[in-house]
This record gives sequence, C-alpha cells and structure tokens, in this order.
Amino acid sequence: MRYLILLLLFTSCGRDFNQDNWSDEVKEMFNNYLKEASYYDNKVAKDITESGDIVFLPDSEFDGSVVGTCMRWTNGDWKISINQDYWQEVDKHARELLMFHELGHCLHWFDHRTERKDDGYPMSIMYPYMFNGLYYNDNRSNYLYELHDV
Ligand SMILES: [Zn+2]
Repeated sequence: MRYLILLLLFTSCGRDFNQDNWSDEVKEMFNNYLKEASYYDNKVAKDITESGDIVFLPDSEFDGSVVGTCMRWTNGDWKISINQDYWQEVDKHARELLMFHELGHCLHWFDHRTERKDDGYPMSIMYPYMFNGLYYNDNRSNYLYELHDV
C-alpha cells in the first residue's frame, strides 16, 4: 500500500488552536523543524508558528490510505492532522519524514514534488507518498538541504 499525504486548502478563518496539548515528541519535532529551517531561511515567522495546531486522529477519520493532511486557511492559520494508527506502526524516522512533510506544506507553503533520483527514491520529502524512514534518515541532511534551499 502506498501512503498518501495530502494538502487541503480552505478559505475560511478564525480557528482557535491549543498547542499546549502537544506531546513532548511533537514539540521536539516541531522545534527541530524550525531549527533546520533557520539554517536556510527566516521565512517562518513567530506568528506563523503560533497560528496552527497538530492533532492525531484515528485511521477512520482519513480517506483511503491517507496518513497526514495539512489544512491551510487564507488568513495564515494551519492545522496538521496525523493518522495515529499509521504513526504507531512506523519508526521515529518515518514519523519525522511525515511531520516535516506536513510542516513543509503548512509553515512554508511548499507544494508536492514528484521527481525521483537515479536510485528511484524521491528527490524531496515533499513527495506525495511516504517512503522508507531508514533511507530518509541515511540521507536526512540532503533532504533537509533540498527542502529549504529553494
Ligand atoms: Zn503533502
């Protein structure tokens, strides 16, 4: 099965978020993403990081094989939903790949990239399907460079 990661766009506004509910794991990943992004740019403004939320929902809340979504509102609000059943099945590297993909959408407004490298693996973590977490981790610095050097 291929695990799809979706980007959804909305035009409504006025959501109320509570990042106090984030687990230590999510807080650490979020801060790691900001740290990595800061090496390359300063586009992630403080108000953007505070205007969104990351929630975990059961598989039944997602269509088909979707494991994560980023919803963005035109006022800058964002919300990432993670498939908690998938999350429990995968290692920490695949979790970071999924979270960084969604943060790429929601904080940087990156679109999907479908190019592949010579070895068949995706060129970018913005590839629209999940791939091997160990491969991602072995090539992590290259993927983070590719993500932010745009
Ligand atoms: Zn996506």
